[in-house]
Amino acid sequence: MSAALLEIPLSVGQQKCDGACPAPALVRVTKDGQVLDFCGHHYRKNDVDLFAAGWDVLEDVRPIGPDTTTIG
Ligand SMILES: [Zn+2]
Repeated sequence: MSAALLEIPLSVGQQKCDGACPAPALVRVTKDGQVLDFCGHHYRKNDVDLFAAGWDVLEDVRPIGPDTTTIG
């Protein structure tokens, strides 16, 4: 087994939103080795700024259709 596997973070669906809300994260973005996880609400709120700053979507597990996970 490769030690590199240990460095893979948990799936985005097992994380909490980094947008200071208790919702489960649904979208993971990455830039220069950094990772941020957002719920659907905070991802939509920040996506323009994230892309402008060079962040790329690494994982997006949002269900198709209206976002029903929004808390904050
Ligand atoms: Zn959030």
